Amino acid sequence: MTKIAFIGLGNMGGPMAQNLVKAGHDVTGFDLSDAALKELQGAGGKTATSAAEAAKGAEVVVSMLPASQHVESLYLGAEGLFSQLPAGTLVLDSSTIAADTARKVAAVAAEKKIRFMDTPVSGGVGGAKAGTLTFICGGDKEAFDQAKPILEPMAKATFHAGDAGAGQIAKICNNMLLAVLMAGTTESLAMGVKNGLDPAVLSEIMKQSSGGNWTLNVYNPWPGVMEGVPSSNNYQGGFQVDLMAKDLGLALDTAVASKSSVPMGSLARNLFALHAQKGNGGLDFSSIQKMFAE
Ligand code: NAD
Repeated sequence: MTKIAFIGLGNMGGPMAQNLVKAGHDVTGFDLSDAALKELQGAGGKTATSAAEAAKGAEVVVSMLPASQHVESLYLGAEGLFSQLPAGTLVLDSSTIAADTARKVAAVAAEKKIRFMDTPVSGGVGGAKAGTLTFICGGDKEAFDQAKPILEPMAKATFHAGDAGAGQIAKICNNMLLAVLMAGTTESLAMGVKNGLDPAVLSEIMKQSSGGNWTLNVYNPWPGVMEGVPSSNNYQGGFQVDLMAKDLGLALDTAVASKSSVPMGSLARNLFALHAQKGNGGLDFSSIQKMFAE
């Protein structure tokens, strides 16, 4: 049993923390939302009134926050956790943030002999609930080996992508592809339906054909085609459009910095940004279906 502090108990962090509780760890969570704290309590976890209190005495800290600025302010600065954590603490940040921020946080951690790794995830809320996320880690090999058994109850696969920041680079490459696949899937479904096809039948045909992909297999964007996914729940829960737009911004920043050409990612970024501007930022990202279906 390991004493773990879990900061950020949202759509992803909540079920991830619960899986650590189920695995027998001593988990103390913190979130700004009371509802999120109550859910962890209901699942047998402890809660704290601040991140600092949750991290007191913790051997491992896991964070699952929205974006770079949240992670920076959690760990750095006069009030940040790095000013209180003892040397040797393992810190795993599973948020999707800028690789540069992950490297900056890792460098400060190294000065304090704290072991920090970027450990972003793929697999969605379904994967977080089922404990079948893919963890994509950036940091030194020793930290990776130490982290593996902690990540195991939340994971189906754990990859060491490379040094600090490498996990974040791999993650945004993946999410840029996911955005392209989701946009392509939704426009295909809309065109089929406009031409008289049943979306469920068309989905099944494409799943068994060369257009098959993750969005069709486990996250169908057309309402009512698949049970238990955000499209069948008014696009509530899941992965917010605002967060996808953030990830695509990170992908484009990386493309600019590395002089990479990403025409499909760039188009997807504009589509999701437009969708967010129209007031859909809080919906699941599969709601981009509405842009083509309406
Ligand atoms: P979310 O908005 O549901 O959860 C974020 C949580 O962080 C919220 O509960 C919020 O109250 C809390 N929070 C914000 N600031 C805080 C602070 N200072 N201290 C404590 N808690 C704080 O978001 P999510 O969908 O769980 O995503 C979290 C991260 O995981 C994001 O970086 C996202 O890009 C990434 N991600 C999400 C998914 C997905 O399918 N939802 C999949 C993979 C990766």
